Amino acid sequence: MKLVFGEKCIGCAACAKQCPEVFAFDKERRRASVRPDAVPEEHEAAVRDAALICLVGNIKVTDE
Ligand code: SF4
Repeated sequence: MKLVFGEKCIGCAACAKQCPEVFAFDKERRRASVRPDAVPEEHEAAVRDAALICLVGNIKVTDE
């Protein structure tokens, strides 16, 4: 899985709640970020769910 995290984050924190192992949330900056370079296989389903629930489409996943 390839994960692309864009620049459109509005700071809702949904992705970090969905998969805190992959997405970190900075409360002061009100922005999420991606923790590891690659998504561990065991978290792929949660990352796909995070991509679906991100309201601004900031999280894209592909099967590369
Ligand atoms: S779900 Fe989307 S908008 Fe919300 S914190 Fe994550 S990347 Fe940002």
